[in-house]
Amino acid sequence: MKLLSYDELKHSKYQLSLKLFLFLNIIVALFRMFPFIGGSASGLSWPLASVALFSLLCIALCFILPKGKYCLLSPVALAIGSLWAWNINYKFQLISHYDSSFLIVSLLSIFFICAIALSDYLFAFTLATLPPAIVVLVLDQGQHIPAILLTILLPLVGFSLQHYMRRCLDRFTHRMMRQLHEEKQTFSNLSMMDPLTGLYNRRGLTNRLESILEHHMGSHYVLLLDIDHFKAYNDNYGHAMGDQALSRVSAAIRDAVRSRDVVARYGGEEFLVLITNVNATIALRMAERIRQHVLDLAIPHRFNDKVSTHVTISAGFALMEGDDFELAVASADRALYVAKNCGRNTILSAEDLPVNTHIETG
Ligand code: GH3
Ligand code: MG
Ligand code: MG
Repeated sequence: MKLLSYDELKHSKYQLSLKLFLFLNIIVALFRMFPFIGGSASGLSWPLASVALFSLLCIALCFILPKGKYCLLSPVALAIGSLWAWNINYKFQLISHYDSSFLIVSLLSIFFICAIALSDYLFAFTLATLPPAIVVLVLDQGQHIPAILLTILLPLVGFSLQHYMRRCLDRFTHRMMRQLHEEKQTFSNLSMMDPLTGLYNRRGLTNRLESILEHHMGSHYVLLLDIDHFKAYNDNYGHAMGDQALSRVSAAIRDAVRSRDVVARYGGEEFLVLITNVNATIALRMAERIRQHVLDLAIPHRFNDKVSTHVTISAGFALMEGDDFELAVASADRALYVAKNCGRNTILSAEDLPVNTHIETG
């Protein structure tokens, strides 16, 4: 089942109230017009016909118009309220003797419709009830002011209070939903991040990979990087220093690539970079830049056997054919393995072994 957002729910409730308001007006107008459903033959009048026809037209429009954000409720409420006011005045002129109960009953029936359909929309409620209320007050000529005012004010005060409480509740719900959404977003982001390095973890990588395959049409390269002799580093400098080195190397890798490339911590001291929309030459140049950036950190590593006196990385890269990520990772891993055997601090392409071997002796 599709879950509606808070705004969608609000919009559909608004639509429902509008349709209910129109429907009730049609029913009440028809009821007043035709004898076979309780009205009198003389009930057929222009104002009543206008209420029924106008409501019918609006309800048809509601179904015809696309479900965009249109705000028909207030103008429709004012128009129908005015038509009811016209009807009260029209009927009142036909009554030969003064009848205050006619005025109050007419007013009550309009308040009744509005109370059912517009109780959540105080502004529309006021617009619909104001014209008939004014007409009734004028026609009554001050003879039954307390009774008429009670008819008008009692529901208005009740609805104002109800409306105020609902607004408070709505604001609270809205705030809660926004907060929940933000927290969900934060947790979702956190679940895709590696806490030590701030890079994507495997889940984050998978997520980014999907969106890249969806949007970028060019050729992508998978680059697998591994810190050389990192076990020796840990054993000799300690785990805490190892963590520090890991996080500095991660930052150096991130700095060496473009923002649209994806950098992930693929394993313990292993990283994966997805270089998007490049050819082999640029991919190699970027891999080389990463290697150089890491070397430039000059993190002392006296146990980087026969490679360097600093922390270094080795890397293998491969073209991603179509969207076969796994195959590209396997090829890059093979190239990385050969790069390690070639003396480390080296980058090799899976397609072109061996490429550009760098060995710095320290
Ligand atoms: P090679 O050059 O062949 O890659 O040798 P290596 O020593 O780097 O490879 P090996 O796989 O033997 O060791 C990897 C080491 O990385 C072992 C482990 O202690 C260390 N390591 C993995 N994850 C972390 C981590 O989160 N923090 C620290 N400090 N060390 C880690
Ligand atoms: Mg290693
Ligand atoms: Mg490793």
